[in-house]
Amino acid sequence: DPDTGLDPLEFAVTRNLAAKSNADRDAILASPGFGQSFTDHMVDICWSVRGGWHRPRVSPYGPISLDPAAAVLHYGQEIFEGIKAYRHADGSVHTFRPDQNGRRLQRSARRLALPELPVPYFLQSLRELIAVDGAWVPSGEDQSLYLRPFMFAKEAFLGVRPAHKVAYYLIASPAGAYFKGGVKPVSIWLSEDYSRAGKGGTGAAKTGGNYAASLLPQSEAYENECDQVVFLDQDRNVEELGGMNVVFVYKDGSIVTPQSDSILEGITRDSLLQLARDRGHHVEGRNVPLTEWREGVASGDIVEVFACGTAAVVTPIGTLKGRDFIDEQPSGTLALELREELTNIQYGRAEDKHGWLYRL
Ligand code: PMP
Repeated sequence: DPDTGLDPLEFAVTRNLAAKSNADRDAILASPGFGQSFTDHMVDICWSVRGGWHRPRVSPYGPISLDPAAAVLHYGQEIFEGIKAYRHADGSVHTFRPDQNGRRLQRSARRLALPELPVPYFLQSLRELIAVDGAWVPSGEDQSLYLRPFMFAKEAFLGVRPAHKVAYYLIASPAGAYFKGGVKPVSIWLSEDYSRAGKGGTGAAKTGGNYAASLLPQSEAYENECDQVVFLDQDRNVEELGGMNVVFVYKDGSIVTPQSDSILEGITRDSLLQLARDRGHHVEGRNVPLTEWREGVASGDIVEVFACGTAAVVTPIGTLKGRDFIDEQPSGTLALELREELTNIQYGRAEDKHGWLYRL
């Protein structure tokens, strides 16, 4: 690798002798849902204080054997990523800005006191899995192969300190549309009693604990007949949804998104905002007080609100519901236009002006 001077890893490949038949795989790819079925293989790389990154493998997909004292099971020292592989019309398979996911995994690792996987190894892990499981990348509309890299503390030790033994894994799951019923505006529950992250906490890292913390407020959202939950910070600024960033479009064409060190820096958001800049929109990351959202919608200053992330891409927000109010959100066309523009690039239907695609 020209940047890091690292040689590629030599993966030991063990083929899955019980791999799904073509017919069984095709049946799954016909309607994959999300996160329910998995490909025939997985990748793992070990890390230890003494040995660094070692024993890279491609193996049959299957259960992981862990010591019951493995640190991750007790203290949650764990991080993950989410990225999709897309099949183009010519049959080739591409991912989207995987270097960004590799770097975000490194930032998450730093915050969780885990070792940083070099980005070239991260990229190689994606290529190794697609080399054996490429047939699992579906070709239907809006379908993709969702790739889930993750890393956890596997050392058997009950003291609270960074683990000396860590495992990196990559699994993959064919994906259809994220929200049942396709792209339609979602309703959002305002979480008043629970927060997702705090100042100086782990909000900007992609770590399991953040998602565990979102489950109870998410069930509160369901009890209130909402699809998703939005979190505020301690100063009542808007943060993000449980798994998506939030973007506001203003009457004058400017676009604003909450930015702070307790929000996950979404790669979908970054890409959509770049496409908006290309169209001449002014784009800003800053604090967005809840009052600005509610008053902006009431006055007509805010003309569109949407959520975005890898899994769902873009979803317009249709309503914001709190304990004592329901705000209908204005509906515009920008969110779905940007969604179309982004997915056209991802699926190879439009020119990749920014060099975002990475062929696997
Ligand atoms: N926020 C959170 C909390 C998320 O889990 C995700 C999904 N990774 C996002 C935002 C969107 O990030 P991305 O666009 O990189 O998928």
